[in-house]
Amino acid sequence: MMDVSVAGKYEDPRAHAVRERYLDVFGGPELPVPVESIAEDLLGLRIEQREEMGDCSGMLLPAERLILLNAAEAEHEGEPIRRHRFTIAHEIGHWVCHCLEGRAPEQPAAMCRKVDLQQDTDRALEREANVFAAELLMPEAAVRDAWQAGPTVAGVAAQLGVSQLSAHWRLYSFGFVPDKPVGERGVRTSVGVPQGKSP
Ligand SMILES: [Zn+2]
Repeated sequence: MMDVSVAGKYEDPRAHAVRERYLDVFGGPELPVPVESIAEDLLGLRIEQREEMGDCSGMLLPAERLILLNAAEAEHEGEPIRRHRFTIAHEIGHWVCHCLEGRAPEQPAAMCRKVDLQQDTDRALEREANVFAAELLMPEAAVRDAWQAGPTVAGVAAQLGVSQLSAHWRLYSFGFVPDKPVGERGVRTSVGVPQGKSP
């Protein structure tokens, strides 16, 4: 097993390996990372939206090679596609980290709540899937380039096709922004979000 969290630094080389394998096989633009195509074309997983998933943002059904997305989150604070992109990347993380290492047939469905998709979740497998997702969607070099092109959380988020909360966590971990994002239920950040929506 690989140690993915060393002294607070979050890395997962498996995410980079997946992304590079995709580019070798399919080519195309590197950014935003084609996460749906990675799931479907490279890994042979299907993606479907479902109603009535309760507080689950996403689900991985390993035996069916199926990723389910919560349709209720399809439109959420104006970042629907980006939220789903992170959820897809997170489920890919479960697949690569927890199913492909010989455990797929016995692996139960991963049911991933909104709170599990936050960086500070206290569940180890969810945290590992989040690290994988961040590494997959936000390669360090791309984050640095995006920050240099326009040093705002919103700008980096737009370039990489991720939510502002995800981008903020990533920028914080690299030391570009001094403060941790203040996220509530994974939708708000303290930087770069237009005011006017009360909690
Ligand atoms: Zn999960």
